[in-house]
Amino acid sequence: MSKDKVAFISHRKSYFHRMPFPKPNIEAFESPLRTQIALNYLEKQCVLDNTIKVKAPKAKLEQILLVHSAYLVDSVSLMSNIGAGQLGEASYASPGLLRSALLSAGGAVRGSEMVLSGEVKHAFSFMRPPGHHASSSNPMGLCYFNNIAIATRRALSYQEINRVSIIDFDDHHGNGTSEIFYSDPDVQLISIHEYDYENFGLGHYAELGYGPAKGTNINIPLLETSPNVSYETSIKRVIGPALERFNPDIIMVSAGYDAHYADPVGNMDVDSQIFWRFGDFIRKIVETVGAMGSIWVLEGGYNPFVLGPSIHASLEGLVGEDVPKLDDQIKRERFQHIIDANNEVLDKVLETIEPYW
Ligand SMILES: [Zn+2]
Repeated sequence: MSKDKVAFISHRKSYFHRMPFPKPNIEAFESPLRTQIALNYLEKQCVLDNTIKVKAPKAKLEQILLVHSAYLVDSVSLMSNIGAGQLGEASYASPGLLRSALLSAGGAVRGSEMVLSGEVKHAFSFMRPPGHHASSSNPMGLCYFNNIAIATRRALSYQEINRVSIIDFDDHHGNGTSEIFYSDPDVQLISIHEYDYENFGLGHYAELGYGPAKGTNINIPLLETSPNVSYETSIKRVIGPALERFNPDIIMVSAGYDAHYADPVGNMDVDSQIFWRFGDFIRKIVETVGAMGSIWVLEGGYNPFVLGPSIHASLEGLVGEDVPKLDDQIKRERFQHIIDANNEVLDKVLETIEPYW
């Protein structure tokens, strides 16, 4: 059986943007080092040997404007020219920002175009800065241009694409992507993330979408320290059925790896086995719903030494390989009360969303 072709999209200039902080500022984790070390790992382990390697092009201005306000685009450009300053919460400018941000968006768009032209079945855009926190007019949370939203709008501009599903498994809620598509019935967003049930915040399952789009915005807010099994259950009970109901023509994946137990930013307890599972699941669901393929866009993942193995696992799942045995897959303490509480959350998610299916 010949394997589906996968494109791996990267660019050295994605290293140019650098947060203006010394460690241990939280922003300093989104550094050039994370992708450099991860890429070294992927190359040394020969993970990319069977992929089609592609250099990310710069996104065109009109592609950025499919999602963002002219004011945001201008702000990123002006502040990048100044080379310093704050654009939004936890989003800072650097001299390399505009270049890196345009390439990051361009990588995602190129991924869309390659899958839509039938060149490959799946594409992985391995670029930074990430995008899923950026709303139509506000950079925030280390994000400037919402790469996956731009790639989604690009896909929707093709005649054969009427519906797009976005799966966001980054540790954090994809608030920017949610805002952008909240009233759009053609885009389904399923975000599975860590949720703080003591302080609350956006990303609750009560956010369903607006008007004709009600039911297309699905949040799976899991508790802190959620293990692999809670993600597995979420795939089976919510993500799979939701995708089958929506029946997308193409699937986008906001691939953030900060739910890893060794991540310095996220507080979940998963390892590379669950990132393999997402690859395996997406490959199968693409077939089930008859979608053209999937486009993966790198979001978070801030421990550079587990980012490479995590992406390795996803890519193996995506081409139908067994779960690779990797060093991070160690036995950890099991907290049954977290698993039980997450099962109740999933009951609530289904109760809330099912009337709109
Ligand atoms: Zn994140």
